[in-house]
Amino acid sequence: MILGEIDFIECDEKKRLKKETFLIKEQDVKELKEMIRSVYKEIINLSFWDKKCENKNCYFCNLRKITE
Ligand SMILES: [Zn+2]
Repeated sequence: MILGEIDFIECDEKKRLKKETFLIKEQDVKELKEMIRSVYKEIINLSFWDKKCENKNCYFCNLRKITE
């Protein structure tokens, strides 16, 4: 894949149909592959379980705290 395109089916505020084109660089593909590998590892060894995000009011992190 080298290119992605989104055709909007509703007009914007200027009553124009919008089309958004994304060029996918080799570097983007490389970074995504690395992210998939690292998240896969975290899932397999369950290390994601102790991770928390920066948002103190995060619904998911607070849900996680309840299980401790
Ligand atoms: Zn969170």
